Amino acid sequence: EVILSVRDLTANVDGTQILKGLNLEIKAGEIHAVMGQNGSGKSTFSKVLAGHPAYEVTGGEVTFLGQNLLELEPNERAIAGIFLAFQYPLEIPGLTNLDFLRAAYNARLKSQGKEEIDAFDFDDLIRDKLDVVKMKPEFLERSVNEGFSGGEKKRNEILQMALLEPKLAILDETDSGLDIDALRIVAGGVNQLANADNSMLVITHYQRLLDYIVPDFVHVMQAGQIIKTGSKELALELEEKGYDEVIEAAKVGV
Ligand code: ADP
Ligand code: MG
Ligand code: MG
Repeated sequence: EVILSVRDLTANVDGTQILKGLNLEIKAGEIHAVMGQNGSGKSTFSKVLAGHPAYEVTGGEVTFLGQNLLELEPNERAIAGIFLAFQYPLEIPGLTNLDFLRAAYNARLKSQGKEEIDAFDFDDLIRDKLDVVKMKPEFLERSVNEGFSGGEKKRNEILQMALLEPKLAILDETDSGLDIDALRIVAGGVNQLANADNSMLVITHYQRLLDYIVPDFVHVMQAGQIIKTGSKELALELEEKGYDEVIEAAKVGV
């Protein structure tokens, strides 16, 4: 089953072309890593997939589960089963994490034409999910992300992912201030959630994340395109040789 298919995607930010013909196909059960230097367009790609309004798609096609993703609104994409990790870094004083998570869960049930979950049943459900990210139940009573450390915010996002069970989860690690413990927990959560029916797109320029999340495919992004695809060994090659050498070799077709 093809989950995501991206063909010749081009996109602009503020009138400047950033994505310059990107191709990628992700099938159910696969974990893909996109690696690339700063400024290569990784975050732009994830924001285009999420439907961020500042990013203008100028060409190409993106299908998600066979439907044209580009004509869906951002919330429709989320409901269809795309999850962008780190998409809710907002702090929401006065709204408990429990209420926030329940609202997100119910919004999805509603979109599927189902009834809201009973508060007690939700309590049971969320407590199971807390184990995935090794968070204490007290955490549910705090305001959303308020005073959370960087690591706690990221765990909270993995918790949202565990709850919403997306078909495609996109993790854009960006500058990532994760310490090794938080990194392990986030990666452990991803590994626990990955199954034969869903897929993961892990965007990073740090090879170390891929010590914990083992991808089926590694793609190298450069100047808005995927210029090379390989197995998990490609991440190690990048670490060893550096981006410049791998990019040069890809250009001359070695
Ligand atoms: P990466 O995530 O790989 O580091 P980005 O997608 O963040 O790369 O950025 C790709 C390029 O797009 C960079 O050259 C960056 O300067 C540019 N860019 C990103 N956001 C904007 C913006 N809002 N306005 C203008 N240029 C931008
Ligand atoms: Mg960057
Ligand atoms: Mg980025």
